[in-house]
Amino acid sequence: MQNNNSGFDHVIGDAVMDKHYNLKVADESIYSYLGATAVPLFPAYIYPDDRKLLVNALEAVDNGEGERYVTVRLKSFVDKYCVVIIFIKQSSIDPKQFYELNIYDIVYLVKEYEDIKAQLKKLKLSMQLLKPVLLFDYNPKTDEITVFSDRDVVSFKGRLEELHNDLMKRGAVDKSSLSGVNRLFTSLKSADEGVSCTLNMTTFSDGKEMKPVNIRTASVMDKENNSVLSIVGVLSPASDTSASMDPRYINSNLDPLTGLYNKAAIKDLAIEALNRDHKSVTYAMLDLDNFKEVNDTYGHMFGDEVILNVARIVKDAVGKNGYVGRVGGDEFFVVLLDMGTELNELRPVMRSIRAQVEWAYKGRLGGIRLTISIGCASYSKDADNYEDLFKLADHCLYCAKSKGRDRFVVYDREKHGSLEDIKANDDKAIKIERKVSQRQKLEFVVDAVNRLTDWRKAVIDSVLSLMLKYFLISEVTVYDVRSGKPVYSAPHKDEEGESVCSYLEDIKHTFRESNVFAYGDYFNLKMPFPDFFDYVEKNDYYSLYIYAIKDKGEITHLVAIYSKGHYEKWSETDQNYFSIICKTIGDKILNG
Ligand code: GH3
Ligand code: MG
Repeated sequence: MQNNNSGFDHVIGDAVMDKHYNLKVADESIYSYLGATAVPLFPAYIYPDDRKLLVNALEAVDNGEGERYVTVRLKSFVDKYCVVIIFIKQSSIDPKQFYELNIYDIVYLVKEYEDIKAQLKKLKLSMQLLKPVLLFDYNPKTDEITVFSDRDVVSFKGRLEELHNDLMKRGAVDKSSLSGVNRLFTSLKSADEGVSCTLNMTTFSDGKEMKPVNIRTASVMDKENNSVLSIVGVLSPASDTSASMDPRYINSNLDPLTGLYNKAAIKDLAIEALNRDHKSVTYAMLDLDNFKEVNDTYGHMFGDEVILNVARIVKDAVGKNGYVGRVGGDEFFVVLLDMGTELNELRPVMRSIRAQVEWAYKGRLGGIRLTISIGCASYSKDADNYEDLFKLADHCLYCAKSKGRDRFVVYDREKHGSLEDIKANDDKAIKIERKVSQRQKLEFVVDAVNRLTDWRKAVIDSVLSLMLKYFLISEVTVYDVRSGKPVYSAPHKDEEGESVCSYLEDIKHTFRESNVFAYGDYFNLKMPFPDFFDYVEKNDYYSLYIYAIKDKGEITHLVAIYSKGHYEKWSETDQNYFSIICKTIGDKILNG
């Protein structure tokens, strides 16, 4: 790591917080960090999952356990989280009423702060235009809601219904928004996830005029028992959002989620680097492995958090040695300057990234291992222009992925072929193999089902060989169970001795209720089907999908789909497409 995080020199600031978790006094630097419109309720800035850590520590301090510290993610005014360490103790002035907080950035804040100092000025300027926001915190368990206005004023505290009655009595809501208000209160009561609405209210006009107010809420979850700890919400005048979104204040060079360079900016820097007087320039393409699974299992918001964290790891590892950009969902492009071109010169940075990514979520994602694959190529050893160098790095990333992911591949002409070969292959295969859209797949399946009304071996074989391309399949074979021989296949398969049919007895029971037997990772076959596992392992089949064609409940044919030498996580939709094609073929075999 480039940063010095041994001491605690990265001070964010000191603050005094009361027992309601409101910041009473805070250094200017804390407010600079939280933003000009900061509200006093401190936990609102802490990453929801971490909030409980703070609460636990405060309780411990209350119980007289002395000074405690917690490591949490704290949100800055640009909506980015940084990891901070907060030391907490009872205030010496009034231990019953207040806590003292000392907040230190662990790694990033200072660096990031420098980076955004210039923007800070602009943003502060624009933020002065903003009227104050209101913030509320609702606890669905106790049904208590607290509304804060200005910096430290509690403008309402009581039960949800009392607030509703209060608003009605004051005529604070326009007729047109009555049903909207009711919906908002109902969703609060039932602790719904992130609500967002605009209501006509008098809130920001001293009770005089109805004006549109934006309301956004977020729930704070207690992950351990998966319950909602509280719902926090922000009210702001609707017209002000447009001011804060003024494009003049949005930096067009940066990716909004991570603050890294965006695709256009990193490309410019990558080209520029080649035109400067550098001894070496290395392009590295990085892509998270199996990130879709993280998204699918833990949700997009968590996925974003992961991307953000990885962005920080990469940026930190690269430090002053180059530039980092985000060029796709989970894809990063790094330009390294003067680091050398040899494996052993590049390895330290790459190893650091890989180790930290893996370590960051180790054991925290259930069965999912979060790792990263990297491909590199260097100027002037491998190519001397942007397009070619990018292509080689991207190709190496592709190699890293196909070899099983979680690795770092440096371009080597001997191993990977010449630029010309790679380009030629690219045109043929990679375009279709790497980036087939869901829509293209669907079109293929519809087309295939239509074509299969023409019942000739050539048609079936051709549909099967197209399947290979669309779904990154290595082999697909239709076997006749009685003879154990292939009837249709792609690529073409001659009669062979052993096949999945030899193991049908072992796996037969799994077809009782469904037609499909699918394993994304062959290793999982080891325990339940040891003999079949041996066969699959011997043949290098990493992922498999087997479809049973049944005639009146009896299995007559098996369609075996394999990816060889690499894992393919065929999505549920992909697998449904397989079923459609297999079923169509089955219907034809049985009735055609
Ligand atoms: P592979 O190992 O082959 O890279 O598998 P993968 O699951 O990581 O797949 P891939 O890199 O092709 O897909 C990246 C996924 O990232 C696709 C999309 O669902 C998701 N994604 C794209 N942009 C965002 C984003 O901004 N936030 C989140 N949370 N997810 C995103
Ligand atoms: Mg990925």
